[in-house]
Amino acid sequence: MWPLDPPTLSARDSYEACVRGTRDPQRKVLLLAAGDRVEAAGERLRLAARQGRLYALDGAEFTVPGMSSDNVVRWAYENGMVNTRDGRAIYDRLMAAPADERCPLCGQGVVRTLDHFLPKRMFPALCVDPLNLVPACADCNHAKGEGLPSGAKTTPLHPYLDRIDQDPWLEARVADGSPVRLDFFVSPPPGWEQILTERTRHHFALFQLARLFAIQANRTINNIRQQLTAMLDAGGKDTVRAYLADEAETRLAHRLNGWEGVTYRALARDDAFCSGAFDLTRPTVHP
Ligand SMILES: [Zn+2]
Repeated sequence: MWPLDPPTLSARDSYEACVRGTRDPQRKVLLLAAGDRVEAAGERLRLAARQGRLYALDGAEFTVPGMSSDNVVRWAYENGMVNTRDGRAIYDRLMAAPADERCPLCGQGVVRTLDHFLPKRMFPALCVDPLNLVPACADCNHAKGEGLPSGAKTTPLHPYLDRIDQDPWLEARVADGSPVRLDFFVSPPPGWEQILTERTRHHFALFQLARLFAIQANRTINNIRQQLTAMLDAGGKDTVRAYLADEAETRLAHRLNGWEGVTYRALARDDAFCSGAFDLTRPTVHP
C-alpha cells in the first residue's frame, strides 16, 4: 500500500545464507540439497507476481521434499534467518527498508516483524524468499494472519509489487455530528483498473484503515483545537482555512496518501469546520 523497493536478493541466495550456519551436519546436507527446489519456487512466485496471480498459487507446489513444513520453517526461517549471523543480516536489511520504520501495510504502525505475504506453513519453500517477506507492524501482521487470498479482488496490496503511491487514492470527509469525526475511504483516480480498486478497498477493510486513520485524525484535531480557536477569533474562518490548507500541502508533498495530509485537506475543505465546528465549547459556529 505504501510501496517499498523490491529486495534484490534472490530466493536461493537468501535461502543458502539462512541454512549455511546449520550445526547438525545431516540436517545441513538435507537443507542445502533443497536449493534447486527453493530457486524454482522463487521463480514461480515471481512469475505469478508479474501476472497478478499470487492468489492462484498452490501450496502443494511449494513444499520441500524430505522435510515437513514445520521443519522447513523452523530450520530455515526461525533458526536460520532470525538466529544465525548471515540470515539475520538479511532479516535486518528487510526490516530496515521502510522510511521512518513505518509499516507499509497501514502507513502508520511501527515495523516490528516480517510478514509472510504467502503464509510460511502453506508455502514453506518461500519462507525465506525476500519477495515474500514484508516488514509490518504487529497489528497488520496479526490482521493478515495465516490467511490465503481467495481471489484476485481479495489479494492484499503487496508493498514490493503494487506501486500505487504516485496516484492520490486516499480521501476523507468530515462526518455529520459532534465532536468532529473524519470518514476515510478509498477514492480511486481515473484510469485505475477495477481490480486494483477492489484490492485497495479490500486492503483498507482488512487492516481497518478507516478506523485507524480516524483515531489519528481525531488526535490531530484535539492537538490543534486551541490554536484554531485563537486563529478564528483573530482572523475568521478564512485564516483557519488557509492555515489548514498550508499544513495539508506540506504533508501531502511528503506523503501523497498519508493520513496526516489527507486529514488537513479534508478539514480545510469543510466550511463548518473552518467556521468553528472544531470548538466543543461553543454551541453555535462563528458567522
Ligand atoms: Zn501496519
